[in-house]
Amino acid sequence: MTYVILDLEWNSAYSKKRRKYINEIFEFGAVKIDDSMNVIDSFSMLVRPQIGKFMNPYVKKLTNVTFEELQEAENTYTEAIRAFADFLSDSVLLTWSTSDLLALLDNQHYFTGVGKLSFMKRYCDLQSYCEHILGVGSASRQLGLSTCAELMNITADGEQHRALTDAQLSYKCLKKIFRKHVLEEFIEDSTDDEFYRKLTFKSKHITDIRNPLVDRSKMFFDCPECSARCVQKSKWNVKSRSFKAFFVCPECKNEFAGQVFVKQKYEGVVFTKKIIEPEQPQENEASKTSENNNQ
Ligand SMILES: [Zn+2]
Repeated sequence: MTYVILDLEWNSAYSKKRRKYINEIFEFGAVKIDDSMNVIDSFSMLVRPQIGKFMNPYVKKLTNVTFEELQEAENTYTEAIRAFADFLSDSVLLTWSTSDLLALLDNQHYFTGVGKLSFMKRYCDLQSYCEHILGVGSASRQLGLSTCAELMNITADGEQHRALTDAQLSYKCLKKIFRKHVLEEFIEDSTDDEFYRKLTFKSKHITDIRNPLVDRSKMFFDCPECSARCVQKSKWNVKSRSFKAFFVCPECKNEFAGQVFVKQKYEGVVFTKKIIEPEQPQENEASKTSENNNQ
């Protein structure tokens, strides 16, 4: 089995056709790896813009790529994706988080009219894999590539925030914590509709207490001091994308605010609970989090 780690750079470009901004891909960078984590090939290609008329200043600063440079690029998106599909062949495609994959899907749809990446047979989100192995990251905080590299004392070679350099950096991270049998569990079959439904599902916080997905039987709190089931003393109030209410312990009379985040995900509704002790200052509030899944 071979793996291809892909990284993309894109520019925020206004599309008159769609009447909105689109992340127009301007660079592909990828490395091909064998089963023993040896790099066997690499891919690097600039893409001539078809939508954008100039480089977003932020992107220009980040990547050091000028619009003039891109205008001289040999290939358009459709030519670049054909070349990349050849490079990928039957390898497993890996990207750092699904955002590159979503950008690719959006560009594919825009330029070819096809809402699928039919050249891709198997996919793996490298960010999820690294978070799992390192035991970091959560629903609210995701592990960035540079943070992951820092955690493992890995430094990038070449210009940062360029597609090939970032793909190589992702490779170095993977190599350091490669466990074939664990990685295999993160590889998904990307040929069916289910894969795309999951990929494009937009998770969101539910902030209407009357929403039937808000199962109040899950919104209980146990006393952080004595573990007794607490009594709710106020109504649920919506506060910063969560529900908040006051609780009191029937045993030790401990009082606190309970905060519940209800997030609708593809996999189901996830309840995240947080206890806010009143005597703690805002900056270092003692909080406890617990999650349970409602499939
Ligand atoms: Zn108590």
